[in-house]
Amino acid sequence: MQTHGTFSAAIATSLTPLLDPFLRHSSSIQTRSQAQQLHALLLKSHPRPFPLVFSLYSALGLVRDARLAFTAAPTPSPPCYAAVIRCSAARGLFDHSVSAFVRMRSFSSPLADAVLPSVLKSCAALRDPHLGTAVHGFLIRSGWGADLFTANALMNMYCKLCHAKDDGRRNLLAEVSSGGAVGGDLRKSGFSHASQIRLGPLGSVRKVFDEMPQRDVVSWNTLIAGTAENGMHVEALEMIKKMGVAGLKPDSFTLSSVLPIFAEYVDGYKGMEIHGFAIRHAFDTDVFIGSSLIDMYANCTNVDYSRRVFDLLPNPDPISWNSIIAGLVQNGMFDEGLKLFREMLLCRIKPMPVTFSGIMPACAHLTTLRLGMQLHGYVVRGGFAGNVFVASSLVDMYAKCGNVHIARRVFDGVPSPDSVSWTAMIMGYALHGPAQEALSLFQRMETENGKPNHVAFVAVLTACSHAGLVDEAWDYFHRMSNDYGIIPRLEHYAAVADLLGRAGKLEEAYDFISTMHIKPTAGVWSALLGACRVHKNAKLAEKVAAKIFDIEPKNMGSHVLMSNIYSAAGRWNEAAKLRMTMKDKGMKKQPACSWIEIKNELHAFVAHDTSHPCYNKIINALKVLLEQMEREGYVPNTEDVLHDIEEEQKRNMLCGHSERLAIAFGIISTPPGTTIRVTKNLRVCVDCHTATKFISKIVGREIVVRDLNRFHHFKDGECSCGDYW
Ligand code: ZN
Ligand code: ZN
Repeated sequence: MQTHGTFSAAIATSLTPLLDPFLRHSSSIQTRSQAQQLHALLLKSHPRPFPLVFSLYSALGLVRDARLAFTAAPTPSPPCYAAVIRCSAARGLFDHSVSAFVRMRSFSSPLADAVLPSVLKSCAALRDPHLGTAVHGFLIRSGWGADLFTANALMNMYCKLCHAKDDGRRNLLAEVSSGGAVGGDLRKSGFSHASQIRLGPLGSVRKVFDEMPQRDVVSWNTLIAGTAENGMHVEALEMIKKMGVAGLKPDSFTLSSVLPIFAEYVDGYKGMEIHGFAIRHAFDTDVFIGSSLIDMYANCTNVDYSRRVFDLLPNPDPISWNSIIAGLVQNGMFDEGLKLFREMLLCRIKPMPVTFSGIMPACAHLTTLRLGMQLHGYVVRGGFAGNVFVASSLVDMYAKCGNVHIARRVFDGVPSPDSVSWTAMIMGYALHGPAQEALSLFQRMETENGKPNHVAFVAVLTACSHAGLVDEAWDYFHRMSNDYGIIPRLEHYAAVADLLGRAGKLEEAYDFISTMHIKPTAGVWSALLGACRVHKNAKLAEKVAAKIFDIEPKNMGSHVLMSNIYSAAGRWNEAAKLRMTMKDKGMKKQPACSWIEIKNELHAFVAHDTSHPCYNKIINALKVLLEQMEREGYVPNTEDVLHDIEEEQKRNMLCGHSERLAIAFGIISTPPGTTIRVTKNLRVCVDCHTATKFISKIVGREIVVRDLNRFHHFKDGECSCGDYW
């Protein structure tokens, strides 16, 4: 006990006057018992020990002892109050800080130095505008309004209060008021509570700023940040210029409060100017600026720059890691995002809830259930399972990875789901098929969560569309604007148009799209073109295709679809002509590709690709399956095959479709009974859909195929989509 020895020796030699400097440099006191011994000594020897004792306990984080020492003091002196107010605010005991201030005022004790910034900080943290204005009144009356630090703290408080609401701390207000004629002072200086409501808290910030006799960088930063956070972006940028005119240089805080503006307005050009400024003033290696720059570039879809900024940071902090990971994932660079997430763990940076909601969409997009489950493991071990943001991203991930049951289990475990979690779950059901589940969950959302937003309506309309529920969809579509005042967006129109098309109400769909309030996109028309193919209406298809080619002359999918429609109708010449146009326009067909994950490895199959090491085994398996399928009554649907070729050849071409290669590979590589999960980059073709239904029955397995639009759960010869897709 070396420390203890020196400590006792120090106490023995230092008496009353010598204790003060000793306490100020009290690094040798490290334990509670040492602090208590010193406290006892001070009580005997020191005339006014409390401020010292209080700072001593506070410095050690012994908050309870600190409060006890203060409460026990019979008549605390001004420095004692000051110590209590300052230390409490610094330690996050905002209530205590304010009540010490109130107690001090009730004894009319004179004000010690630098107390008011702490009081104002506490008012801001307590989010109480009434209390804040009361203290403001007091500081005007006591003449502290002209003090630079106090005025800065006052501005900061009003900024924080911009988003605050009254939570009933009026009793404290009454006590502060009784300590002085607060209201009168405020009114005299033009700061009545009514005027504060009229000005708004930001107006108050501005007024304090304008009336300051002197201002420093902190004053400007507070004003700029407050202005930017309240959406007044042009004004905030103007202020940076004015700050320069006033002879003050913007610092890293100034920059990090304006960078989000460019991110939000996707103005990468202006953002780059600020980046240039940051480099010239050597702020670019600052983690605050770095993280803001990463966010800004990622939002402006310039994620390569984000990456470069991140790589140049000498000591990236957790915020910078989260920014870069989320930025990469948002920009579709899922593998990169996951790679950095692993690096982050290797660097022993602890993930936060935002880390998980940032990385989870990568698993959802890559449909890698295994990785998603690993992340779920981290979430549970890290104690984030109760976090509603994390839970929502888990629900979304499980649903998108094809496991709607686990998604539901996670959802049911969320104590109070927010609209994001509700919507993720409803969307999950919409994509997977049990449309009735989606609809009843939507109903529950309306009663339990209140207001469904526009995304929730997209989800419920998608559910109706995938299940062919026309009447229900119309009902939701009308209620959306009538009951909830949500103006339909493109996604809502698209869902309804898609539904009408699927239901065979092609003319109705055509009229609906033609009379939309928004200009229809090629995507909306393409859905109808797909419906025309299913319902074999080549005449309307031509009209629709003309609309699409008008909007997007090089829309690949529609050209292929139209050519297929011609082929199916036996109009080979027109099909050939269209394929020529495609060649002339330099369009290449996007190759169909399907993925399957086997034993932690992702296998990709492109149509008719023979390069897979197991290719021969796969083809043999498919041949065996085909024979069995034909015995069960399968007839190949060859109308989608482009060329005018022999039936036998057509049949072989269908066998080479990417999803079929992936499914066959799944069957031969996994034990019987294992669910097979395949992802395809395009829509599942009609013939593969039929074939997969047969295969699921023959091999007795559940086969889950995620295509461009939805999930298909094949089981016992049926598909969850009910053949609507
Ligand atoms: Zn196919
Ligand atoms: Zn299906």
